[in-house]
Amino acid sequence: MDKIPVAVLGATGAVGQRFVQLLADHPWFEIIALTGSERTTGGKYREVCRWVLDEDIPEAIGEMIISATDPTLPARIVFSALPARIADSLEPVMAAAGYIVCSNASSFRQEPDVPLIIPEVNSDHLSLLERQRDNRGWQGLIVTSPNCTATGLVIPLKALDQAFGVRQVFVTTLQAVSGAGYPGVPYLDIIDNIIPNIPGEAEKIQQEAQLLLGLFKDGERHAAEIGLSVQTNRVPVIDGHTVNMAVKFDRRPTPDEAIEVLASFHGSEETVDLPSAPEFPILVRSEPDRPQPRRDRDASSGMSVTVGSVRPCPLLDLRLISVVHNTLRGAASGSILNAELLVAKGYL
Ligand code: NAP
Repeated sequence: MDKIPVAVLGATGAVGQRFVQLLADHPWFEIIALTGSERTTGGKYREVCRWVLDEDIPEAIGEMIISATDPTLPARIVFSALPARIADSLEPVMAAAGYIVCSNASSFRQEPDVPLIIPEVNSDHLSLLERQRDNRGWQGLIVTSPNCTATGLVIPLKALDQAFGVRQVFVTTLQAVSGAGYPGVPYLDIIDNIIPNIPGEAEKIQQEAQLLLGLFKDGERHAAEIGLSVQTNRVPVIDGHTVNMAVKFDRRPTPDEAIEVLASFHGSEETVDLPSAPEFPILVRSEPDRPQPRRDRDASSGMSVTVGSVRPCPLLDLRLISVVHNTLRGAASGSILNAELLVAKGYL
């Protein structure tokens, strides 16, 4: 088939660069435009982008000229890596003009007619798009991806919730610096240090986890009645968020029962044949000192969440630790998987 023309909005940032890297060789999508702020619009991508990834900028893409973010882009799908304050106004303009907007920004995740999707977890929530069309009269649509840490929390919780019913979760996060974008946290603040209470992050993680794990019923999504207490920390790791959790269940599993459920989780059938879907959304490590961000973030090209240290909890039922690649599964790759699902389900 001819490749579908796509654009990356905010292509010079931490997430935008991942989109460029992943889409340069995608079997269904082809980048035809990159956008940036006034600072970079009109410049050549390789000259105005402070590229931070190990791999070089894909040759042809490096030569592209940055466009403004407006409805003249000759794309069908736009991947938004815009800051929320910019996405607030630009994403609806793009959706109204007919684009499929796959957003990484937090701007519309809580809107009752905007799906917040992890394909393996809640692809049924895409049915909200009918309501979105009726409410907003857009020619296109907006689908959002969750907060990167919420992704690393929710994928294992989904597997466990299906099997044992999750009631309460205490969460402590150790989040990488790339989660703050580029240039992000000043190095004199973060080297040799840990910075607690990332602004707004605990609330996002809690609310988004409840939405993602909630039921879709009678045309609406209903937040899961799971109690969550979340504390967040920024740590001197480049990529990969670690999530420590203690979980209380309706039916307490042994660590071995939990491990079996986690390791065999595939999620929604609809995702199985999508190009970016990993064979196993969750990989379980048995070594006592895993998972680790440096060693586990790239599992399945950064698409699997790695879980380990599954053990009894003296206060709740079970403790476990997950690692998710924040700019891949937690952002660009997760968003591309959403777009693949939309295409497979005929939304284009
Ligand atoms: P970032 O590194 O700060 O990049 C922001 C990008 O937005 C840059 O490309 C910037 O372009 C562009 N931009 C700023 N103002 C613009 C405007 N008026 N018009 C068009 N483009 C504009 O941020 P990031 O970490 O990539 O995050 C991008 C989005 O993804 C945010 O909403 C963030 O919350 C979300 N997210 C991030 C992560 C992560 O791990 N970093 C994970 C999940 C979700 P110029 O360079 O041209 O100024």
